[in-house]
Amino acid sequence: MKFSLLHPRDQLVTVMERIYGFGMTTTSGGNLSILDENGDIWITPAGVDKGNLTAGDIVCVKPDGTLIGPHKPSSEYPFHRAIYARRPDFRAIVHAHPAALVAFSIARKIPNTSIIPQAHAVCGQVGYAPYRLPGSEALGAVIADTFEAGFDVVLLENHGVVTGAESLPAAFQRFETLDFCARTLIRAETLGEVRSLTREEIAKSRKRGKKLTTFKPKFHSSCERELRQKIVDIVRRAYAQQLMTSTEGTVSARVPDICEPDAVSFLITPYGVDRFYLDIDDIVLIRNGERERRKKPSRAVRLHQAIYEACPEIGAVITAQSPNATAYSITQREFDTRTIPESYIVLRDIPLIPYGAQFGSGKKIAKRLATNIPVILLQNDAILTTGATLLQAFDRLEVAEFSAKALIDTTHIGKMIPIGEEEVKEIEEKFL
Ligand SMILES: [Zn+2]
Repeated sequence: MKFSLLHPRDQLVTVMERIYGFGMTTTSGGNLSILDENGDIWITPAGVDKGNLTAGDIVCVKPDGTLIGPHKPSSEYPFHRAIYARRPDFRAIVHAHPAALVAFSIARKIPNTSIIPQAHAVCGQVGYAPYRLPGSEALGAVIADTFEAGFDVVLLENHGVVTGAESLPAAFQRFETLDFCARTLIRAETLGEVRSLTREEIAKSRKRGKKLTTFKPKFHSSCERELRQKIVDIVRRAYAQQLMTSTEGTVSARVPDICEPDAVSFLITPYGVDRFYLDIDDIVLIRNGERERRKKPSRAVRLHQAIYEACPEIGAVITAQSPNATAYSITQREFDTRTIPESYIVLRDIPLIPYGAQFGSGKKIAKRLATNIPVILLQNDAILTTGATLLQAFDRLEVAEFSAKALIDTTHIGKMIPIGEEEVKEIEEKFL
């Protein structure tokens, strides 16, 4: 869907639904706006339930100050106006109080976005504005000053966060990605020292080799079409559970090739499409190292290709940034699955692959998976799960995330006590 073709009222309602749906704002908190080409500012209203916002509730403030709509504009309208005046490149602003970012604002710390390569690029520069009374011109001035200094995101001391961008989806992605970093860092802090990526390491993630050459599929088999829908369904589930963000997370599935049985064919999610709006037409078919024409596959396509080539029993691969599993990938702490039977049966042992191996040919990782390891952690990047089917790979992602969460929660209440060697042997004999 072309989001930019939606009326600003509908864009604001849709994005507020996403923010409220994830618990990133309350009924009364948070506000969003869009600056139209003619200078109108479309903004969420004051005093209206964010959980039941409709397009008719949105307020339009004309350049001369005239108000159009049934409500007053948000009480934070002064800072929206002040930011647009100082940042002519902005067309949308998101402001809310998600708990993890509020925690950082109370501790007066800026979340580190160099924990995974994409987060730094999505968020841009993160600044900090000192405390001022909500709704005041003084708050507008300190926020606008910080944005004018070149920051794309501003953490508000003892308050929340504001992001701006050239469009509402881009401002939302900044907001969502920074919140992901904050949640992941809070989980990781209890595990040990957080490993930060250097500039060189982040730059490495952009070098993924030449683009794949293209081909035009003669037809789309029913099996392929069925898998397209299954991939879309899995991505939507993963996104709804915050196992992925709108910009991060890749899913692929092997397609049996009826014309060329020896061909390595698979479907993979595209690059640059919001996971929330993913459609079957966005999914890219890959056959023998070539991509379906006019489509851009995920940048992880070579890694997925190498896995399907090396491991004939693997039918699906998922790479995702779920916060608890990612917390393990950014610290040195071992992700010990020998703690409850379900984790060990479904996940086995999870090795941590040093940063960088995923950006080359992917052969090293594929070789590791070929030794009967179904799940690996990619250092400072993601968790990678595989399965004979999409559902099995997704189940492994869910089990990995809940296991990581349980283990991290354990650190708050006592010592982590794994199951004994005898019990592990018993599980291996019965289930593996
Ligand atoms: Zn606020």
